[in-house]
Amino acid sequence: MPYLQESDWASMLNEATRHFIHLLQLDTTNPPGNERPAAQYIASVLAKQDIESVILESAPRRANLITRLKGDGSLPPILLMGHLDVVMAEPDKWSHPPFSGHKDASGMIYGRGATDMKQTVTAALATLLAVKKNFHDRGQRPKRDVIFLALADEETGGVYGARWMAENHAELFADAEFALNEGGGIAAEINGVYYMTIQAGEKGTSRFWLRARGTPGHGSVPMPNAGIVRLADAVRRLGSTWLPVHMTATTRRFLQVLADTQKGQNGVFFRQLLHSEDPGAVMDAAPLDPTMRRNLNAVLRNTAMPTILRSGGQLNVIPDVAEAGIDGRLLPGQSRADFEREIRAVLGPELADLEIEWATPQPAIALEAELEGPLLDAINAVMAVRAPGTHLLPNLVTGGTDAKAIAPLGVKVFGFSPHPADDLNLFERAHAHDERLHEKSFHYCVRTTYEIVERVITKSV
Ligand SMILES: [Zn+2]
Repeated sequence: MPYLQESDWASMLNEATRHFIHLLQLDTTNPPGNERPAAQYIASVLAKQDIESVILESAPRRANLITRLKGDGSLPPILLMGHLDVVMAEPDKWSHPPFSGHKDASGMIYGRGATDMKQTVTAALATLLAVKKNFHDRGQRPKRDVIFLALADEETGGVYGARWMAENHAELFADAEFALNEGGGIAAEINGVYYMTIQAGEKGTSRFWLRARGTPGHGSVPMPNAGIVRLADAVRRLGSTWLPVHMTATTRRFLQVLADTQKGQNGVFFRQLLHSEDPGAVMDAAPLDPTMRRNLNAVLRNTAMPTILRSGGQLNVIPDVAEAGIDGRLLPGQSRADFEREIRAVLGPELADLEIEWATPQPAIALEAELEGPLLDAINAVMAVRAPGTHLLPNLVTGGTDAKAIAPLGVKVFGFSPHPADDLNLFERAHAHDERLHEKSFHYCVRTTYEIVERVITKSV
């Protein structure tokens, strides 16, 4: 039963804002990271409420914090996870210094990490404090433990954070049934209809070097089949050809929501895409603006985007080798062999001799969580009240988060850090100049996160 009163919430939200601003003021730019002061601050806030936490350092100053509020053990724990590090900022391009945590007269809070993801970390911290106050301080135990994991090093791949924790301290959190992480809860408006994303999966990565060789020669005597020329041809083909469509379970759910809610030609298009034998052809004729078309193509297909070119050193010498770095992304269920077959088909027989050298021994796996269960039920129930008329839109993201390290331990990770429907373009503000979040949007995030967690830890299954 919720005992917390509106007056409790007013003071708890004020306090949460203070913690949020304090965390924004700590420079955790990664590299080098330096998450220790942020972890220590969180530990001190928890200690004031008699919640013990542990800070685990993977390297000097690379701190990960974990704590657990015990339940009665009748159901498995929920994990609240987030990262403490942020990407770099160029102070001269900001209206307010990136580590000032400046709140302007309108309530807008500026700071690197304001949307990625110190707001979510603070919401998890505030949720923990509220669960303690609402349950433990009243002598009650919820049905599930609530685990809070604040991680280092997400922005450069999690070697000192999620991956290190998964390899060395999994016993501290791997008993969780599911986790709330970053990546969803983002409002979007399409043709006047409101949606909120819930991240249920991530593409994997399988990057590679594509290399063309030839004989070196004098630049004054052109050589049309030189490595540099054939590589350029390969780069053009890969960069301008979409690989085949593969529908994943998450993408089907995503398209179904859009098919059911979009009107007119858009609705028709999404229904066709979902049911067509040749979805690639339907995509070719999609009535979508270029950005949406590009984004949708990226979640429907494996992708291979050229990002680096290297060849030659002197203007009058034809180089003997040319290579391109390709950012490869795999859908759930796709293997590296499947991917290579698709790439070779684009290159064709003329470029069959080009070498593919994978950048890592193994691909980073793609993830997909089943879109059902108590956490999803709780999200649906809370959002029906907090965001009436907004449709939850399950999505697969093209990038990666710490979920890649945690999900293989058997924890179902959902990206859901809810923000209000009128706070559009939140995702675009991450990693950008003037990263910022309105206090109202932050409070909404805190309160709905708590409500989702409260529902999950009190409801029987
Ligand atoms: Zn992030």
